Amino acid sequence: MQSRPASSGPASGAKRRVKVLLPLPLDGAYDYGAPPELPVEAGDFVLVPLGRREEIGVVWGEGDRGPAAIAESRLKDVQHRFDLPPLPEVARRFVDWVAHYTLNPPGVVLRMAMSVSAAFEPPRPIVAYRLGGGLPPEGFKLTPQRLRVLELAKAGPPRSLVELAREAGVGTTVARALADAGMLEAVTLPGSLPPAMPDGLRPGPALSADQQAAADDLRARVESGKYSAALLDGVTGSGKTEVYFEAVAAALRAGRQALVMLPEIALTAPWLGRFEQRFGAPPVEWHSELSAKQRRLNWRAAGDGSAKVVVGARSALFLPYPNLGLIVVDEEHDGAFKQEEGVIYHARDMAVVRAHLGGFPIVLSSATPSLESSVNADTGRYSRLHLPARHGGAELPKIEAIDLRRHRPPSQRWLSPPLRDALTETLAQGEQAMLFLNRRGYAPLTLCRACGHRLECPRCSAWLVEHRLIRQLQCHHCGYAVKAPETCPACGAAGELAACGPGVERLSEEVAELYPKARVSVMASDTITGPLAAGEFVRAVTEREIDIVIGTQIVAKGHHFPFLTLVGVVDGDLGLSGGDLRAAERSFQLLYQVAGRAGRAERPGRVLVQTADPAHPVMQALVAGDRDRFLAAEAADRKRHHMPPFGRLVALIVSAGDPAHADATARALARTAPRGGALGGDGVEVLGPSEAPLRLLRGRHRRRLLLKAPRGMDVQSLLLDWLAQVPVTGDARVQVDIDPYSFM
Ligand code: ADP
Ligand code: ZN
Repeated sequence: MQSRPASSGPASGAKRRVKVLLPLPLDGAYDYGAPPELPVEAGDFVLVPLGRREEIGVVWGEGDRGPAAIAESRLKDVQHRFDLPPLPEVARRFVDWVAHYTLNPPGVVLRMAMSVSAAFEPPRPIVAYRLGGGLPPEGFKLTPQRLRVLELAKAGPPRSLVELAREAGVGTTVARALADAGMLEAVTLPGSLPPAMPDGLRPGPALSADQQAAADDLRARVESGKYSAALLDGVTGSGKTEVYFEAVAAALRAGRQALVMLPEIALTAPWLGRFEQRFGAPPVEWHSELSAKQRRLNWRAAGDGSAKVVVGARSALFLPYPNLGLIVVDEEHDGAFKQEEGVIYHARDMAVVRAHLGGFPIVLSSATPSLESSVNADTGRYSRLHLPARHGGAELPKIEAIDLRRHRPPSQRWLSPPLRDALTETLAQGEQAMLFLNRRGYAPLTLCRACGHRLECPRCSAWLVEHRLIRQLQCHHCGYAVKAPETCPACGAAGELAACGPGVERLSEEVAELYPKARVSVMASDTITGPLAAGEFVRAVTEREIDIVIGTQIVAKGHHFPFLTLVGVVDGDLGLSGGDLRAAERSFQLLYQVAGRAGRAERPGRVLVQTADPAHPVMQALVAGDRDRFLAAEAADRKRHHMPPFGRLVALIVSAGDPAHADATARALARTAPRGGALGGDGVEVLGPSEAPLRLLRGRHRRRLLLKAPRGMDVQSLLLDWLAQVPVTGDARVQVDIDPYSFM
């Protein structure tokens, strides 16, 4: 399915045929006739008939000519070519690559590249008004109000009637009357103005020697215009952002587009501010919270090259950049880069592929690199650029474990005496503290004291989480929500439902009890819902309007709070309970990142981690501040078990409405599974089927199989052969997760 140059024209006489890929789950591109009066090229966005509908697709190459080709009489014609820049060849190859790698139909991947259907309509022109030339018609009085509008229209750019009226402080009817009388003249402006241009020539801050060395290296990579991958590895606050801004500046100077990917767009407000300060103009944003209009404008700006720097979440990777010359993946270790629904892909890994296809450098930045990237740096596939010190000599905080077995919190409370003492001290000094608990809501479980019944989601095998502020019980897996009941739904007992365990809301009750005068703020994804809320939160903390922040992982990343000197991790063991491949790694990364929030300026910080298992390797490495030892131990362990990145994993998730149907499908998969030796699969092993930990999700019963294979193996071919042997009937579904991160 490689595209061919559009110039390889048809044999003389026959009508030209082109392949058009539609953004639909079809098995490939379809052939259409290209009438001579409608010249189309590979990459063009076109309208074609499909059954009784019309669909927008992309010309993917020349059509089939062979004996199997569709008869000319049945060939339908391309109907319209949109007046848009074509989807560049490299973007088309990327769609094919991702489709092949993730075992999805290419059309489904293409859909991610054209997610904005309104972008295909021409932008609506804007009508604006300026001063007309003529004299007032007979009997038209130039009242003071009218004169004020005319006065304003004389100066400045053409504006809408509403705007002119607003500026003049008069009603819109006044302006309308002037337009009707010909005193104001209408002009038509193009529908959108190009985004403001960030300036690559503006100087950045003076860099330290280490920063300068890393920045020089990155700049040379961008200027060379060749593929390379660099891991920018430095503790929080070491200036990684300043350094990769230099690479962005180099791309701007070279006239290339740059993409910066951030894991959580809700948290980018401070980042956007910094960018604008550095480059004099904001970047173009790409994420799910844009308005429909902004989305459309930004998609077009990425595609016509006027968006010089795009900052976005995963899906920004699929924008139709004509001229991309740099990708930066910030917080590259972050699990949020893995998309778990629809096309299951890891945006960091696909970004590396995109850079490779495009022949330009990629920069992966992190204070706690993923084991994958770390191993790639060790083996020389990536270069490691190291920033060893915090900027301005700020010290990394001291991390201490609090053994919860020796320092028990009171019953139904979660703060141990040493953590309370530290909080008291911090507040007494007028400094700020952060309590970290990665659990939204009030309590993770509600239990009936009379009969032992646990409140579960009716559609998922998961407990309902109480959110007391809004009096709801919520399922964090499917979004199901009900009013918190007064009586037990199982035995009917009244007043016996008890909250078990803490969430951030409950912790804030405890804190309010202990420190009634402290200003406390709870930060979780349900209170920080977007860039605006995040920006307001950062402002409030920075301006010391908050004494104690209680937050989930949303507070773990990337903020600088100069007066925050104490971080308390309420449940350091929480991340370790998942028991999956990356539980230790993820937990270490998260706790290390949280720890990095403390003491960023001159004030030294302190981090206290409550744990029931201080001897755990993650705790030991954390307290020793020895990231590299931790990574080395993890790597050795993974290597021994042929686990990623030393071996490969693919998860198959079988689901169906009926549990027996899910079981039968999963067992059929197991029966035909490739085995060592058979199917060319040396070193291949299939585990399962087993019930998924999340046995029921949105009413579907789930089973899992796990394929283990050697690192270099072409698992895609293996899987295609395997899956082709198993009929998947009725509502059953088999989802393929290449390089799985979630094992739920
Ligand atoms: P990281 O991305 O590694 O966490 P940042 O780039 O965010 O680090 O830098 C941490 C803080 O130090 C930021 O406020 C940043 O503006 C500041 N900083 C870093 N390097 C410099 C420098 N060379 N000159 C001035 N300020 C710097
Ligand atoms: Zn649910």
